[in-house]
Amino acid sequence: MSRFFSNKYQNLTPYTPGEQPKDMQYIKLNTNESPFPPAPRAVELAAEAAQKLQLYSDPECRDLHKIFEDVFGFSKDEVLFTNGSDEILNFAFMAFCDKEHPVVFPNITYGFYPVFAELNGIPYEEIPLCEDFTINVENYIGIGKNIFIANPNAPTGIALPLSDIERIVASNPDNIVVIDEAYVDFGGESAAPLTRKYNNLIVTQTFSKSRSMAGARLGFGIASPDLIRDMNTVKYSTNPYNVNSMTMAAGIGALSCEDYTRKNCQTVVENRTFCMDAMQKMGFEMTDSKTNFIFAKHPKIDGDVLYTKLRERGILVRHFTNPLIAQYNRITVGTRDEMQALLCAIADILEENNR
Ligand code: PMP
Repeated sequence: MSRFFSNKYQNLTPYTPGEQPKDMQYIKLNTNESPFPPAPRAVELAAEAAQKLQLYSDPECRDLHKIFEDVFGFSKDEVLFTNGSDEILNFAFMAFCDKEHPVVFPNITYGFYPVFAELNGIPYEEIPLCEDFTINVENYIGIGKNIFIANPNAPTGIALPLSDIERIVASNPDNIVVIDEAYVDFGGESAAPLTRKYNNLIVTQTFSKSRSMAGARLGFGIASPDLIRDMNTVKYSTNPYNVNSMTMAAGIGALSCEDYTRKNCQTVVENRTFCMDAMQKMGFEMTDSKTNFIFAKHPKIDGDVLYTKLRERGILVRHFTNPLIAQYNRITVGTRDEMQALLCAIADILEENNR
């Protein structure tokens, strides 16, 4: 830390992204990326947009809004596009949370929430999950604080039903509830329609997972026009061109190929079932994942040991050091071939472990 670094960031521990090693070719199952390429139309339109990089991107994202409304049914005043969904989450922290409006979220959830809270000097409380990693909805009923919930949750993969989300939102009318639906396309139920009923609800989603665009950085929030206006104030006060023109074009291309997205999600769900069935036979305990990852532990091998042994065999998964989940690994669902390679490696490791 230099002597110039602001005091306000002295205690900031930044988010640690999943590793991206380049020393060899890995099967990457550690950052919940899609194993499939982006829709061909997304690539085509991004390449076309690259021809005009001398121009600023459209800060209003008008063409993207047009096709988004056709596909999702939400109009421009109900939607804000951002640089990945990380950015809309940060905008929500910046716009609606402060010392008088503190935040709560589960103690096991997306690791960026405490970082955003720290970054913006916002007091936060982490509410423990139940022992089976489910969220106890009663803990959030009428809590009177702003709430961030990933649904499905990460890295547990478990989803809350929409009726529970609605109870939380309805019981906290004077607070913001942010439902982070980064993984909703793999089996969750979106709360987006509820944004028309509750003006304290923000639903965030991303093109990173189901639409194979993690590298393009495109996310969005859906909320009542008042909330969108407030977050636009934050956007125009930080980076009006937060969505670059190639990404915007790729997003338009992706939304013109929703069949492709649906088919890929379906394949991921099938591969998840295939892999979980095989892992269960090998003795793994897993949560009921509604996402593109599997959260698994084995009674005979420590989480960090399995992580390291898989890494030695060229397979990257995500291990977290938090003691509550240190026995687990989060494994992204890839292609059938990748899952087969994973299963072979695991079988090999377990056998070695038994010797
Ligand atoms: N929410 C959750 C729960 C996530 O796991 C991620 C991915 N790391 C994000 C949001 C952010 O994804 P992105 O910025 O790529 O949209």
